[in-house]
Parts: sequence; structure tokens; C-alpha cells
Amino acid sequence: MSLLEVDQLGKQYPTPAEPLVVLKDVNLRADRGQSVAVLGPSGSGKSTLLAILGTLDEPSSGVVRVEGQDPFQLSETALAAFRADRIGFVFQEHYLLPQLSAFENVLLPLLATGPATAAGIARGESLLERVGLTDRRTHRPAELSGGERQRVAIARALVRDPLLLLADEPTGNLDAATAETVTELLVGLQAERDGVLVVVTHSEALANRLDRRVRLINHALEEASV
Ligand code: ADP
Ligand code: MG
Repeated sequence: MSLLEVDQLGKQYPTPAEPLVVLKDVNLRADRGQSVAVLGPSGSGKSTLLAILGTLDEPSSGVVRVEGQDPFQLSETALAAFRADRIGFVFQEHYLLPQLSAFENVLLPLLATGPATAAGIARGESLLERVGLTDRRTHRPAELSGGERQRVAIARALVRDPLLLLADEPTGNLDAATAETVTELLVGLQAERDGVLVVVTHSEALANRLDRRVRLINHALEEASV
């Protein structure tokens, strides 16, 4: 059993005319520790696929399994707990809370299912150090550079060591040098993990650092070389 299994996944959106087909027969397997880049033209459904893998959106057909479990079979409360515990997100926009410090933003996911534990807080500390921002711990997002904000977002996404780390164009808003730093961090942190990393990216440099590349084309995924 692969950690992530996607079988014949379909997604369509209703419109006044015919339904808009975004995904049709998408299949994907990823094993523990594996990283996968999802490539494809703008509008091909990459963000839609990532949102479904992250249980933020529901498939129209097909099955997603994470450690053998189909999250869409869970009750709403159980699904929220599943998402908080097993899924980490990094978006193109950092979505940090402006009123919280860098460190508080990193710790935030710990509070989703109860009080933060000492182990969780220690993990937050070590991640903040790992992304090189210990000396920025009390800075608010507005007091950080774009690259620093994205490094906080990566630490936040990893603080619960999620089974699935999902990143949607994580370097899309960054200049080349900063994108390189963020790429190195993501790749380095993933190498220490047991979970799966799925990254939507237009960056060949980032895609080429991951274990596998797949391309979303004609509503389906195919293996890609670059
Ligand atoms: P990508 O991330 O590859 O650029 P998206 O997944 O964002 O593509 O979008 C794929 C297609 O689905 C686009 O044509 C977009 O307009 C459409 N789409 C995305 N979300 C919705 C929605 N909530 N309702 C209707 N159409 C949507
Ligand atoms: Mg997108």
C-alpha cells in the first residue's frame, strides 16, 4: 500500500451549460518519503488537484486514500481533525496571520486539535531554527522579507509532521535567489521526512530536485521527464 493513492479521480464544476471538466481519470501513487512535482499549463487543474489531496475540496468521482483511509468518508469533525493532523500546506501566498509573531505562526497548527504540547512547541523551535529564523521569532509577518515569510510558512506546515505536505507554487512569488533558498529548504526538510511531498511548480529547478515529475495534461496525469 502506498501512503498516497489516487484512483480515477475526477472533478467537474457545474455551469449553466455543460459541466466544466477539470480532472478526469487522475491516478497517482506515492510511497513514504517520496516527493512528486506536478507540472502543467496554467488552468490545467493543478491547484484543484492539490486542494482535493488536501481535503479542502471534494472529488466528483474516484478515490483518494492516505494510509489506506479515504478522508471523504469521514464525518465533518473527523475530517477536520484528519486535515489538521495529516496535511500541511504551503501556498504561493504565505497566509500567515499578521497579528502573530513568526514563532506563534509556526505553532498555530498545534492548537487545531487542543492545547499545544511541550513536544509540539519544541518541534516548532527546532523548525524555526532549521529555516534559519530563530533571530526573527518575535517579528510579525509585515516585518519579514518575502522569503522569510515563506520559510515561516514551511515551518508552520511541518510543525505537526504531516503525512502529506502539499505546496502550490511555493516559489512563485520569489526572486530567483530566494526561490533557490526555499527550494533547498523544502528538499532538505523532505529528505528528513517519512511523509509524501507534492509540489505544484512551474520551476524546473525545483521540479528537478524532487524524486518524480508528473504532468497534468488533458485532465489526467502522465509521468514527465522535465
Ligand atoms: P491551475 O492551478 O493548473 O492553474 P486550477 O486548478 O486553478 O488550475 O483551475 C483549473 C480550472 O478549473 C480553471 O479553468 C478554473 O477556471 C476552473 N475552476 C477552478 N476552481 C473553480 C471553481 N470553484 N468553480 C468553477 N471553476 C473552477
Ligand atoms: Mg494553480
